[in-house]
Amino acid sequence: MAALFVSDLHLEAGRPEITAQFLSFLAGEARAADVLYVLGDLFESWVGDDDVDADLARVMEALHALTQAGVPCFVMHGNRDFLLGDEFCARTGVRLLPDPVILTLYGERVLVMHGDALCTDDAAYQRLRATVRDADWQRRFLALPRAARRALAGAVRAGSQAHTAALHTAITDVNADSGALALRHADTPTLLHGHTHRPAIHALTVDGRARTRIVLGDWYTQGSVLTWDTSGPQLEFLAR
Ligand code: MN
Repeated sequence: MAALFVSDLHLEAGRPEITAQFLSFLAGEARAADVLYVLGDLFESWVGDDDVDADLARVMEALHALTQAGVPCFVMHGNRDFLLGDEFCARTGVRLLPDPVILTLYGERVLVMHGDALCTDDAAYQRLRATVRDADWQRRFLALPRAARRALAGAVRAGSQAHTAALHTAITDVNADSGALALRHADTPTLLHGHTHRPAIHALTVDGRARTRIVLGDWYTQGSVLTWDTSGPQLEFLAR
């Protein structure tokens, strides 16, 4: 038995092969897990729990089937789907995780984040993040008609893609000091996150102690899963 972690699936109608692979993962490997954690950006876009198309509904039904089968599932907000809310949870049986959070996995404390908060070299992005994570901003956004919310989300996505494309890749990666600071505050041996789409297990030293930063991969060209059991963490790729 193991805890499974995934992130950055960016599910949307335009990429049906990713949805299909995730649905078979939920019906297969995930059923044998102790618990499934989704560390953000499960969906490419989420403008409110009241705006669910047929593809999103199928994913929600599959999550519901998993939790009904007795596998707990926890979802953390990503920078694309931070508006996943109570109705999504009620329909799926999924529970939301705060970001950051410290989990205890088979006796080891692990600091878990989506990862965007660690990309502190990208000051413009951190300003946008502070705005859209504000409760008042979210209330006003969710009060807009669905068409207006979709249009705004599309404009923000286009702006963010242009912004990221214009930056050096080092700027859009995790800032090393921010990662070290997070580990120091949490006082855990391990930091686990997604967001950057650069899967790896990095060894580092903080305050003279060996630590590990594990980065989950995205699901663009294959499945990417971190399996964590009594023997520790292992990154796996699922062929498509
Ligand atoms: Mn992300």
